[in-house]
Amino acid sequence: LEPKEEFEHSSLAVDVMRPRRSDPALAVLTQEGMTVGEVETLVESTHYSGFPVVVSQESQRLVGFVLRRDLLISIDNARKRQEGVVSASQVIFTEHTPAQAADAPTPLRLRGIMDLSPFTVTDHTPMDITVDIFRKLGLRQCLVTHNGRLLGIITKKDILKHMAQMANRDPDSILFN
Ligand code: ADP
Repeated sequence: LEPKEEFEHSSLAVDVMRPRRSDPALAVLTQEGMTVGEVETLVESTHYSGFPVVVSQESQRLVGFVLRRDLLISIDNARKRQEGVVSASQVIFTEHTPAQAADAPTPLRLRGIMDLSPFTVTDHTPMDITVDIFRKLGLRQCLVTHNGRLLGIITKKDILKHMAQMANRDPDSILFN
């Protein structure tokens, strides 16, 4: 075996995904229950390009994926143009609007900007298969699950960095570009 093939066969998605054990938790949105203000705070306190959407913090069951850019544009537009949307408005990614208190502010529905079937692999998927999927589907990122619970995320850059570490080579020369 070439050293690279050896690496490809021995690394698993869990070895490459973020967050690492010492990192802050994965930044996720819940499909209901968060306010416009809370979503803005989460997005603005990080620099991630996207956020998984889960059923609830407890379940960590994956519902979809939203891009940072689309979130910021949609919230900004709604605040300017959509009557009644304020910081306390609930952000909703579900199909149907959940029951709210009669005096609750107008909710902001954002299901339309969510990717409903983001690509996922399980934590023990070999990296050679994951890399193949990234290449063939032109993915930017992929989510990692274990028993249906969201565990982490792998971006194209994470893969390049990991491969460079393993091969001790220039990341740009290995996989893409
Ligand atoms: P890139 O890897 O191209 O810089 P990002 O800026 O989205 O893309 O991600 C930066 C790092 O943060 C990557 O290591 C990625 O795995 C991780 N990451 C991406 N999205 C999230 C998220 N929602 N929560 C926690 N970590 C994330």
